[in-house]
Amino acid sequence: MTVDREAISAHVAALVAGDAGALLPARRSEAGATVGEAVLRDVLPLPGGQVISVLRSGDQVLVVPLVPGHGATSRAVPGDGAFEGLLALIRRGEPVGRFVCHRARRALGEGELRGERAIDVDQSNESVVVGEKAVVKLYPFTGPGPQPGLELPVHLAEAGFAEFPAPVGALTWTDDEGDDVLLATVTTFLPGARDGWAWYLELLQARLDGEVEETDALDPAREVGALAGRLHAALATPTSVLPEPLHVVGPPTLESWRARAAATLDEALALTGGAEGERLRAIEGRARAEIAELGAIVATPAMRIHGDLHVGQFLRWEHGLAVTDFDGNPMAPTAARRALESPMRDLAALVRSVDHLGRIAQARGEGHDAEIERWIALSVAGLVESYRETLAANGHSDLFDGRLLRPFEVAQEAHEFVYAARFLPRWRAVPDRAMAAMFPAERGAS
Ligand code: ADP
Ligand code: MG
Repeated sequence: MTVDREAISAHVAALVAGDAGALLPARRSEAGATVGEAVLRDVLPLPGGQVISVLRSGDQVLVVPLVPGHGATSRAVPGDGAFEGLLALIRRGEPVGRFVCHRARRALGEGELRGERAIDVDQSNESVVVGEKAVVKLYPFTGPGPQPGLELPVHLAEAGFAEFPAPVGALTWTDDEGDDVLLATVTTFLPGARDGWAWYLELLQARLDGEVEETDALDPAREVGALAGRLHAALATPTSVLPEPLHVVGPPTLESWRARAAATLDEALALTGGAEGERLRAIEGRARAEIAELGAIVATPAMRIHGDLHVGQFLRWEHGLAVTDFDGNPMAPTAARRALESPMRDLAALVRSVDHLGRIAQARGEGHDAEIERWIALSVAGLVESYRETLAANGHSDLFDGRLLRPFEVAQEAHEFVYAARFLPRWRAVPDRAMAAMFPAERGAS
């Protein structure tokens, strides 16, 4: 297949010069993401005439599916067939120039898959359902180097973990330095999947409306905690991808974690004004003291972790619960996403997100505050307990180090203020309530 590279190059240049936002998925350009100088580096022709273009913008690589036209070229949207074509190429598994198709396994049977449907939830990347069988996830902003989104699913599958969307394949591109750049991944589609910000919040609301029993509203916390425990046990299992997954880190690493947490708190304080900022400053001393505890620990287990574990990554689907999205912290550079971390960092983030479900419900202001506090407390206790029980049942009690949990929770909550200030101002009400609840007013102080 031939592509008129020059024509595409000219069209891309026109897009960059005009409205560069047109190169991004709608959600990202709405969110204010922008593209600086972008230079076309390579083009992958797809069977239906569309192309996947690879652009360089500073140290970032942009991945843009395009539909070349005679007059103008536009970004491919679901329905244009670019994702179908990409899936077909990946399933074929043959390299095309510098593009490498990794076929993980024949999970989808035979036959072409047709039909594209956007996934209508908040996401950092662009995931499209193809033929109701596969999810093709394109990384609009990516970069060179091994990526957790590619290697962790392969590791998990080899470790025998199955409670996640099975990897079908991936597309990488080799840059001038010979480094692999991850452009897209494909997983099997889980029918009926809804993420925890939907199913879990709905359940809490149903409880507040008196439609379900308290035990039914509390059970998922145990389920989520157990699944997190099985995930961590699998991450700690040696495979050909990660032959030595488990490590113990000492004072230098713990000190770097302490410093990072303290810096996040500094940033949260600097970025948060108004009444929320005042409330944050009121607990600053106690928050700093908890974070400082990290510096007093001399040894703790470390391994590869999920890195962005929150209730939104727990999909409720036709056959139960699955955990997804192994790209790690979307705000961290690639190298940092592969760092050895404490599993307690995942657990802390997960616990915070359950708390946040409660805060979102509280912010609706229907006067259920006490009941929500109770639901949060019992849910968090159940989650942590079943996480620990599951680790123990899998021979990995050693992964739990309770000393780190609270400092990481404080750091995670501080991070939520930073995230709100940078990306989503209305989110600020959530860490505002959550942090206040972590540091109740000292009573009877004289
Ligand atoms: P991002 O990294 O862009 O946040 P995710 O991998 O978290 O992307 O996917 C975004 C959303 O797409 C998920 O919350 C879920 O609703 C849906 N989704 C992702 N993978 C699948 C799948 N294999 N089956 C069904 N739905 C999925
Ligand atoms: Mg996600």
